[in-house]
Amino acid sequence: MLMKYRNIFPIVGSLVIVLASISFLYAQEQAELKVNAEKLAENLYMLWDSGGKGNTTVLTGDDGVLMIDTKVETSADKLLAKIGELSKKPIRFAIITHWHFDHVGGNEKVAKTGATIIAHENVRKHMGIEHDMKLLNAKVPPAPEIARPLVTFAKEITFHLNGEDVKVFHVAPGHTDGDAVIYFQNANVIHMGDLYFQGLYPYIGIYSGGSIDGMIKVIHQILPMIDENTKVVPGHGPISNKGQLQEYVSMLTAIRKNVSRLMQKGHTMEEVIAAKPTRAFDEKWGKGFLPPDQFAKLVYMDLSPKLP
Ligand SMILES: [Zn+2]
Repeated sequence: MLMKYRNIFPIVGSLVIVLASISFLYAQEQAELKVNAEKLAENLYMLWDSGGKGNTTVLTGDDGVLMIDTKVETSADKLLAKIGELSKKPIRFAIITHWHFDHVGGNEKVAKTGATIIAHENVRKHMGIEHDMKLLNAKVPPAPEIARPLVTFAKEITFHLNGEDVKVFHVAPGHTDGDAVIYFQNANVIHMGDLYFQGLYPYIGIYSGGSIDGMIKVIHQILPMIDENTKVVPGHGPISNKGQLQEYVSMLTAIRKNVSRLMQKGHTMEEVIAAKPTRAFDEKWGKGFLPPDQFAKLVYMDLSPKLP
């Protein structure tokens, strides 16, 4: 008996050490996570964090704060503190670009400050059910009622406050089937949500209505609506412009074509990945959250006649 315990002790001991290390690293990441504000216009800011979680845009002024997306749950306190530095007024509206956890994670805390959460009706639908994000090996449980959008819209909704006309419109199917794009008409700033990842390969919500074809189509619809002076806020990555958005859609189009050509020749998923269909773009786009092989796999899964 004693022998047995002696044998398993090192295993249990190592497990305890591993778990302790994980929680230490997690705590360290949280302590180091910093929310930064970058000015887009006189009373408009993009808030990004050092962990690369979803970008937030904040409009301030006498009429109160309007914000877009609430990042991950664990950065909600720091996000609220940063907004408090930018404005002493309460948050009145939080517009959500889509249901993914790195864009809605702070919803509950933001709603508890008294803000109204607004999103496309499919965001509310997705937040009410469990999701299996297979590529990321993540199961996302239904969100509590307070975190779900209180107000939903089907096509578009416009907010008029702080001297700004904020047009929120639905485009679909794109990154998911509940995407909203937000255009600040006077400041000439557009917040794209995860239809646009700047400088890194995008995740695509293929199990919630999104597709690479949808993303390409939607970006081509948006490009004529903006000009050379428009500031383009991506879901992830730095503030950019129309030329960079054009370059991004060209990259998506080329990779989609490469993967599709290999699939038409009858190659399996492993063969498609091994053929490196993203190679020409990896130097610039392949160092982010999705490495080249994972992105090739995602595009293959998306283009398969039946989702794997
Ligand atoms: Zn997303």
